Amino acid sequence: MRQGGNRQTEKLLMERSVPGRVGTVLPDLDVPAQPLPGGALLRGELPLPEVSEPEVVQYFTGLSQLNFSIDTHFYPLGSCTMKYNPKINDEISFLPGFAGIHPMQPAEHSQGALELLHRLQGFLSEITGLPAVSLATLAGAHGELAGMLMIRAHHLANGGTGRTKVAIPDSAHGTNPASAAMAGFQVVELASDKEGNVDLEALREVAGPDLAGVMITLPSTLGLFDTNIVEVCRIVHEAGGLVYGDGANMNALLGRVKLGELGFDVAHLNLHKTFSTPHGGGGPGAGPVCATRQLAPYLSAPIVTQRGDAFELSTPEKSIGKLSGFHGNFGVLVRAYTYIRTLGGAGIKSISGNAVLNANYMMNALRGVYHLPYDRTCMHEAVFSADWQKERGSSGLEIAKRLLDYGFHAPTMYFPLIVHEALMIEPTESETKETIDSFVQALIDIDREVTENTELVNSAPHTTPVARLDEAKAARQPDLRWQPEAAD
Ligand SMILES: *Cc1c(COP(=O)(O)O)cnc(C)c1O
Repeated sequence: MRQGGNRQTEKLLMERSVPGRVGTVLPDLDVPAQPLPGGALLRGELPLPEVSEPEVVQYFTGLSQLNFSIDTHFYPLGSCTMKYNPKINDEISFLPGFAGIHPMQPAEHSQGALELLHRLQGFLSEITGLPAVSLATLAGAHGELAGMLMIRAHHLANGGTGRTKVAIPDSAHGTNPASAAMAGFQVVELASDKEGNVDLEALREVAGPDLAGVMITLPSTLGLFDTNIVEVCRIVHEAGGLVYGDGANMNALLGRVKLGELGFDVAHLNLHKTFSTPHGGGGPGAGPVCATRQLAPYLSAPIVTQRGDAFELSTPEKSIGKLSGFHGNFGVLVRAYTYIRTLGGAGIKSISGNAVLNANYMMNALRGVYHLPYDRTCMHEAVFSADWQKERGSSGLEIAKRLLDYGFHAPTMYFPLIVHEALMIEPTESETKETIDSFVQALIDIDREVTENTELVNSAPHTTPVARLDEAKAARQPDLRWQPEAAD
């Protein structure tokens, strides 16, 4: 947030420009001067700010502090795992040998990089209990599409042309039905029971000869471990279908539960949620796909294989093909590798221990203040409803906005869709008890404010550089750069 009073630091860079002021000094030419290209390529009147270096630094540092970020604030965005990631993982991925490598370099020149990818495939296989891994997919949704195409290819190869339906729980992330539909399947919605598990009766009804498979998120987006999961997999398999696992948020299960052992056939992981790449704002990600031996031949290409001492890129026998240009987002994969190596087995297990402990601590501290539609031990996140506050005049949105005044980013709101006025909160494994305590206190204080001063809550935020934005307009007509005022 900008500190009050200093007019100069509130100006845009262009407004600070003074003709002739210089921010950097170029070295003397040590090559012959060349004529500039013809006039068509040069814009004489291009307005560029003439400012000093400190002004540039102050301007951009100021801009960077207008926003909430994981390095400045607690960011309890459920189903997104906005946790703190150790900076060492960034530093390792910036090493020149990793950052400067070119994806077209021949395998014999990139053995170290290929070995790292091969080892990472092995770690992810160990973590998921699924023996085959492709790292090439670049996001969670991308991994889902790959998995759905693999399931389709498997059925087509085995005479299952009538398997046209994929069943997906009503609590699922929106990418699930989108991915299934893109792979050519018809999506059938699966109801959740009153405990928040997949409704087994509803599942039995769709488990027929036209079922290609199901897509299950574990823990579910209600933050719950589906206690029927083994039975869900059994019912689907018995009907000839396959089970896809959305493992975008695995921080509740790491080192304790393996998807492959529960009965999942193919799953994706979001390395940019669980395995240390910071995300938000649509930055680079990775959504590796892990599969059983049965589905391994269909994985997207390339995968890294080892022959003798050498590592090479190869294409699985019945591969669905390439879904990205090269071998995935290498920098993201290096971060995940570093994260796993620095933590080791015991450290990986402590991620899930702390994630689940923190979420349950927070959930129990708020029980009775905010409504808990599924009041069970939760996993890495808990989904509340702001219904009780709404009865007194403030919706989930107002509460989320008021949290900004207390110095906290809003939780995920209005998702999952099956919870009215949903506030989906994930403290993550990386926050301290003190931070969680002060967040809980803020929510308790806001609940009191809803009764005592509804208007204060409903006009929040009061302390941010801008208050309530037209979010649809901001997304559709972003105003991203300075423009000279129209001369009229
Ligand atoms: C984030 C998320 C996805 C999608 O991942 P992207 O990398 O954003 O494509 C899918 N499912 C769940 C449960 C998620 O939380």
